[in-house]
Amino acid sequence: MSLVFEHVTLGQRVLFGTGKAADNLAAEVERLGAARVMVIASESEAAIADLVCAGISPVLRWNDVVMHVPVEVAGKAREAAAEYNVDLLVSVGGGSTTGLAKAIALTTGIPIVAVPTTYAGSEATNVWGLTEAARKSTGTDDRVLPVSVVYDAGLTLSLPVELSVASGLNALAHCIDSLWAPRADPINAALAAEGIRALNQGLPQVAADPAGVPGREQALYGCYLAAVAFASAGSGLHHKICHVLGGTFNLPHAQTHATVLPYVLAFNAPAAPEATGRIAAAFGTAGALEGLQALRETLDAPRALADYGFRQENIAEAVEVALPAIPASNPRPVTAENLTALLTAALTGENPKTLTDL
Ligand code: NAD
Repeated sequence: MSLVFEHVTLGQRVLFGTGKAADNLAAEVERLGAARVMVIASESEAAIADLVCAGISPVLRWNDVVMHVPVEVAGKAREAAAEYNVDLLVSVGGGSTTGLAKAIALTTGIPIVAVPTTYAGSEATNVWGLTEAARKSTGTDDRVLPVSVVYDAGLTLSLPVELSVASGLNALAHCIDSLWAPRADPINAALAAEGIRALNQGLPQVAADPAGVPGREQALYGCYLAAVAFASAGSGLHHKICHVLGGTFNLPHAQTHATVLPYVLAFNAPAAPEATGRIAAAFGTAGALEGLQALRETLDAPRALADYGFRQENIAEAVEVALPAIPASNPRPVTAENLTALLTAALTGENPKTLTDL
């Protein structure tokens, strides 16, 4: 990788500590001088939000959260924020909850303090996403970057193993995809490599002992590094594909990322020796795909898009929507033909190695 580069680090305060979320959140609310806090947490995240918000007095609690942020859902939440004259948004939950806070911030400029409870990493990016008529749009805007993130591994203990694994592999996808993303540079590559190392260490511990704090902490630390690398490097081939699968076919976010990742890695590997060298080194294995597949095996990771509602007859539309969005910087030229082969392999869960020789 050339040592001539341009790198942007996004400005954000991060407070990391198991068991410290309520105190850290209260301190942040005070530091920011907020008086009218809107807390966003879905119904299934409400119990965690109660715990986290013990030291603050919100003027509004909001639980109408829907994955991929439909515009109607965003519209209602924006109206409520205006009605209550909200001056700070506190999101407590996964990427869907953070995403709704971002949708409000996008049009109002109200700052966000994010308290993540999955490994999605949205809290560390300035990327927003909204879905309208089965098309997901994303964009970047610094107004949606949370001013502060409060990480507490204790809040992730309730995340079921299956979702922890999928969400953790979503974070791993941020690391791997950032190595060939349009703004890949030596700084975000270093963050991505450390993210891979931490996730590879933490996720097997989470799967073996979901209530164990050390594994949860490693996974959360790795997910933050992954998101910072991704925010800096931008979306590569993997994210462009998954974005279409989620937005157009409403496939579940984390599971889709977890399934598609080995196919994108196998596809790009022959044309990306530097990236694959870094990935292999971070896994501590001879090859990049070997490291990823060993981890996936340990985690009993999602294998086939067919398991999440994707169908053979969806492939042509997915290719048509995704192809124009694939970055020109992708190490291997992507065509309708090879993208069809990639999605066909991911649909059924066939051995990703077949993509290497396309
Ligand atoms: P999610 O937020 O939809 O959460 C999945 C499920 O887990 C939900 O039912 C939620 O209530 C539940 N949950 C969350 N935390 C829990 C916990 N600790 N214990 C028990 N249950 C818990 O899923 P996600 O994968 O976190 O986020 C996906 C969304 O985030 C997608 O819309 C995706 O596009 C977006 N995203 C955006 C960015 C970005 O940079 N803008 C990055 C990553 C993901």
